[in-house]
Amino acid sequence: MRRPVKSIVVLTGAGISAESGISTFRASDGLWENHRIDDVATPEGFERNPQLVHHFYNQRRRQLLLEDIRPNAAHTALVRLEREFPGEVLIVTQNVDNLHERAGSRKLLHMHGELLKMRCVETNQIFDVQEDIGFDTLCRCCQTPGNLRPHIVWFGEIPLHMPQISRALESCDLFVAIGTSGNVYPASGFYQTAKIHRAHTVELNLEQTRSSFDERLFGRASIVVPEYVDQLICSAVAP
Ligand code: NAD
Repeated sequence: MRRPVKSIVVLTGAGISAESGISTFRASDGLWENHRIDDVATPEGFERNPQLVHHFYNQRRRQLLLEDIRPNAAHTALVRLEREFPGEVLIVTQNVDNLHERAGSRKLLHMHGELLKMRCVETNQIFDVQEDIGFDTLCRCCQTPGNLRPHIVWFGEIPLHMPQISRALESCDLFVAIGTSGNVYPASGFYQTAKIHRAHTVELNLEQTRSSFDERLFGRASIVVPEYVDQLICSAVAP
């Protein structure tokens, strides 16, 4: 028998932001916005060609700041879940956009970093950034050119907030994955950790992935997520 749901972990991926106008990452052909992942999302790629990598993230940042890029109904539904569900809700996102926080989510962890942040490779200080960055941009803390890198977790690097995420996965009653292909480790294994600790696991996606969730609902995030959140809130507050 399923235990009552008192705490929820929601994992989101690029699919939740697709209807806001931000392209997903196409794992099947290894391309992100027509660039090879090896070139723009690995430490080796940055070492080989920092100008290209800065240019790529400058483009992503510019796109995110366009006026017509806004949170969609799926982001908003998760804000409602956080506010109205009478228990713990933690959102863990693989996304580097800021659409969850713009919608109003507060208990949110960006496990793969954030587009609107840069980091000094010497001091690890993190800075907010909206403007373009180049290889010769002076770092704000050490005033040295070439010391800034995108605050993005690249392939081969350790995701952020892992101890907190692991604790939440081990203690949640419900794990919901939204719009993620399950191709990027370690997020792809989160549902298994939650399952081992007896959580109910649910996938909301446009199409079936290879992961074996307990329950699956297919459709566009802007439709499926608000419906699912309504259900969760209703069943939690029903007498
Ligand atoms: P992914 O691109 O590998 O998979 C996206 C998933 O979303 C697919 O399973 C697809 O079927 C589903 N999907 C597409 N449109 C959808 C919709 N409208 N509604 C519901 N589901 C939809 O994404 P991932 O698993 O998050 O891995 C991508 C990696 O690339 C992440 O590490 C992330 O950091 C990075 N990335 C981030 C962004 C962003 O911040 N928005 C965008 C692209 C890539």
